[in-house]
Amino acid sequence: MLLHKIEEVRKHVKNWKKQGLSIGLVPTMGALHAGHLSLIKKAVEKCDKVVVSVFVNPIQFCPGEDLDKYPRTLEADNKLCEEANADIVFAPSPSEMYGEGQMHTNDFLTYVIPPFFYTNKLCGKSRVGHFDGVCTVVNKLFNIVQPDFAFFGQKDAQQLIIIKKMVKDLNIPIEIIPCPIVRENSGLALSSRNKYLSEEDKTYALALSKILNNIKSCYKKGITDVNALKETAYAFLNEHHELEYLEFMNENDLEAVTTATDNTRVFIACKVGGVRLIDNLLLGE
Ligand code: AMP
Repeated sequence: MLLHKIEEVRKHVKNWKKQGLSIGLVPTMGALHAGHLSLIKKAVEKCDKVVVSVFVNPIQFCPGEDLDKYPRTLEADNKLCEEANADIVFAPSPSEMYGEGQMHTNDFLTYVIPPFFYTNKLCGKSRVGHFDGVCTVVNKLFNIVQPDFAFFGQKDAQQLIIIKKMVKDLNIPIEIIPCPIVRENSGLALSSRNKYLSEEDKTYALALSKILNNIKSCYKKGITDVNALKETAYAFLNEHHELEYLEFMNENDLEAVTTATDNTRVFIACKVGGVRLIDNLLLGE
């Protein structure tokens, strides 16, 4: 069932709560692919009722990013969700979520701001304010849907760690369920933004997963010095790659490490053909 209004969703949620049913939420920006579907599948398995939100959240885009050209495929998304047995697709307009004219300024909107220590690195460094927008919209979705469980992909590992921190710090009574990264056979992590890649760029995009896998096999062979592990990446990069970061962080608190352990997550962001791609991998997995 496709709903656009907050009040309509609330009506169903109230009804479900009255019946004692458990609710799962899968927040997305749409243009759904097999990665999103893996989250929806997990939610349907675990919960009595499942809400998938499809909302390209304007306040998490920085000036000059792809807000206007972000792929919007609501009809197909709704069909996929129906086939996956989700109960509600919630696709609000920006004004339904934020009111007319309020959303691009925190002079008029209450924001949820995650800690600087978690946001001044990795994607937060180039996307200033991005995680403020993410935490604000996720909070709003939590309040609208009041789920027992919310499903997030490891694809956006920094986001997942920040959401978990927010839930803990604000005592939000929702269990966050992390879901593994879904990849093409080639190794490329699925992303709605892969639609922007030409066939040629797609082959260059394989460098991200190749770099991560190579680092992992070097680590398994006993190399733990982060600088030495970083050095191994350059063999996979050429003039088609614009590396933004390759960082080694503690999986739980995003503290940078100089010696890799099983708890180290390796994060990479790289532009290919002007498209910004991210990927990550836990060394101990
Ligand atoms: P997005 O629509 O890009 O905001 O993503 C919505 C949710 O799907 C987020 O929790 C993402 O981490 C997750 N997701 C996106 N791509 C993948 C993937 N390839 N594998 C697993 N989860 C994913």
